Amino acid sequence: MTTTTDRLVATKKAASEPGNCWVLTDSFGVDLDYGDGIFHFDTKTKAEERAEHEDLEHRPRRLDKPCVLVACSCCDYVFDEDEWTNHFESLDEARKVLPDFGWVPGENGTWRCEGCAKGTCDCEADRA
Ligand SMILES: [Zn+2]
Ligand SMILES: [Zn+2]
Ligand SMILES: [Zn+2]
Repeated sequence: MTTTTDRLVATKKAASEPGNCWVLTDSFGVDLDYGDGIFHFDTKTKAEERAEHEDLEHRPRRLDKPCVLVACSCCDYVFDEDEWTNHFESLDEARKVLPDFGWVPGENGTWRCEGCAKGTCDCEADRA
């Protein structure tokens, strides 16, 4: 079923890299979190490398469902795409969190990143 909100998850990354993320979990079942969100890794290897690098006891754990990724409808920037990624568990969570980072909802369930929303990018110039 296709709804307008499906566009939120239809990023290039999600399409090209199917499969659930990995997190690092300690022996108490607590996921690695430096207070800024839980770290997600694309692959088990990346998670293991991180644990080794930081000398952590954490072990990789595969999430039981895919994450929600949000890309800017204008510049394709993926929210929080960094050394590590902080993904959303659901579209509802994304809608709650994105405005705090300056992202602005557009038409048909799309979002624009802070930079684009401020109107400094090329696509905004095209529109003017
Ligand atoms: Zn994830
Ligand atoms: Zn953008
Ligand atoms: Zn833009």
